[in-house]
Amino acid sequence: MIIIDGVLVSKGQGGVYGEKMMKGYRVWSPNRSKFAALAMIRPGTDLNPDLKVLYLGAANGTTVSHFADYVNCVYAVEFAPRPMQDLIEVSRRRTNIIPIMADAGNPREYAPFVESVDMVYQDVAQPNQAEIAIMNLPFLKKGGILILMLKTRSVDVTVSPKTVFLDTLKELEESGLEIEDACWLEPYHHDHACIICRKNS
Ligand code: SAM
Repeated sequence: MIIIDGVLVSKGQGGVYGEKMMKGYRVWSPNRSKFAALAMIRPGTDLNPDLKVLYLGAANGTTVSHFADYVNCVYAVEFAPRPMQDLIEVSRRRTNIIPIMADAGNPREYAPFVESVDMVYQDVAQPNQAEIAIMNLPFLKKGGILILMLKTRSVDVTVSPKTVFLDTLKELEESGLEIEDACWLEPYHHDHACIICRKNS
């Protein structure tokens, strides 16, 4: 990752969503993007030009556009029509974003358009976040990683965030994934956790 004077940036054409520029690079704010928060909390986090990424919950393409500055290509899945319009505009300005309007909970909708990927990145505020991630594992190459940004309050607002976090870890482990790392995204995103898993088989 490129960090200048302690600020995470990406190298690409600016003016995508009003992001600041710094020394010719696009500032990637940890307050706006959970992946940027992860990169600040876990400095070893890396994106590189060899990666193909399936991105679930692309919204209007804010984080997707920064991913695209670092990786080979991004299959960006979003099901809501309004953010999808913005995502399409962002995709027009990059050659390596494939916007897909579909429900991440129904991967058969987009299976014909997505190749095997090195990373599945998920940021969907749904009650069944672990289940959605597991449903998308067939796209992930053996040895690839899943990064799940868990919004605990969307799973169950009546249960403590810690319990939701531990239950989610268990569900992912029971699906055969190996948990490589897990952390909270404080102070950038309240009650959000990041879980990084590897698919070994
Ligand atoms: N990742 C985005 C970013 O950093 O710029 C923000 C994502 S926002 C928290 C969650 C997005 O997931 C929303 O745009 C929502 O419409 C989308 N979403 C929620 N459930 C979904 C599903 N089942 N399939 C596809 N998109 C979904």
